[in-house]
Amino acid sequence: MTTSTSTPVSLPLPAVPRQRKSRAEIEAAAPVNGEKRVLLAAPRGYCAGVDRAVIAVEKALEHYGAPVYVRKQIVHNKHVVSTLEERGAIFVDETDEVPEGELLIFSAHGVSPAVVQSAEDRGLRTIDATCPLVTKVHREAVRFAKNDNEILLIGHEDHEEVEGTYGEAPESTTIVNNPAEARTVQVKNPDKLIWLSQTTLSVDETMEIVNILRERFPNLQDPPSDDICYATSNRQAAIKKIAPQADLVIVVGSANSSNSVRLVEVALEYGAKAAYRVDYAHQVDENWLAGVGTVGLTSGASVPEILVQDVTRLLADYGYGDVSEVVTAEEDILFSLPKEIRATLKERGDESRSLGGRNVRPGTGN
Ligand code: SF4
Repeated sequence: MTTSTSTPVSLPLPAVPRQRKSRAEIEAAAPVNGEKRVLLAAPRGYCAGVDRAVIAVEKALEHYGAPVYVRKQIVHNKHVVSTLEERGAIFVDETDEVPEGELLIFSAHGVSPAVVQSAEDRGLRTIDATCPLVTKVHREAVRFAKNDNEILLIGHEDHEEVEGTYGEAPESTTIVNNPAEARTVQVKNPDKLIWLSQTTLSVDETMEIVNILRERFPNLQDPPSDDICYATSNRQAAIKKIAPQADLVIVVGSANSSNSVRLVEVALEYGAKAAYRVDYAHQVDENWLAGVGTVGLTSGASVPEILVQDVTRLLADYGYGDVSEVVTAEEDILFSLPKEIRATLKERGDESRSLGGRNVRPGTGN
């Protein structure tokens, strides 16, 4: 007689939708003293570089047809990426995943010259959707390296943007990730030293790093203009104004979005009692609202406004229907599309140019 043994297999259980606590339950658990309101940061959401990159992919799909390959996520937002995937975009990590001769778009975060070369070697047609403000930092890196400067690049080494900028002048560049590294980094010639930075860092933390570096290397030069971009600084300035009044700050943005993650940190640093990041409204935990009078709400530079509107609707269900916008800056920057797309649009008489997800106000749908 033979006995058979079987290995137990554990199958994943289907996800059961969570039963949300009602507004009455939340209020009974922790009554709110005073008014309930939402302070909505402005500016928030889409920046000009993201707008341009997303439209570049949309126009490529429209005019060249699917599939359109995109190296890395075109912008760091789950919703944007999955929407473009549904329309025929294929996101890859490296150029060698793209069949020879196909069309490849470089993301808003930029690429190193080695990546451009490898696309060329494969005979790929390319469209460069690198944000012009990232390109500006690349050019600075090339120029300073050519003049025999050593570059201290402040940023997160695992971020695509930093990989791209570093790749412009690897022999001359050292990445400084944080204040601790600023205290120990070694340089060859402290008199020919310049710092550059990733565009989406915390303004305050970057200055802390620069101050540490300058104490050690007094002849450290500043970049010709700020590398942290207008969109990052403006979104941080808006949440700094709201945070001291907020019992809770909600940041809409993806986990790999550097500027969204920074907004959570900045909110906490500037006095918000709690701050969380969510990709979607359904990730807002209603328990966060217990005892909360003022909710601050903002979104990262790669977030379409529709996702913020979803959160305002959810908040309204819990009694936070009073929404006021806190405006700390007006933005009207618009970048022209990548030249390869512009040429096609011109040829085909396509003059449409939407503002992407920008300038959309909650509830208005426009
Ligand atoms: S966050 Fe700044 S650097 Fe990045 S894409 Fe937007 S405008 Fe460009």
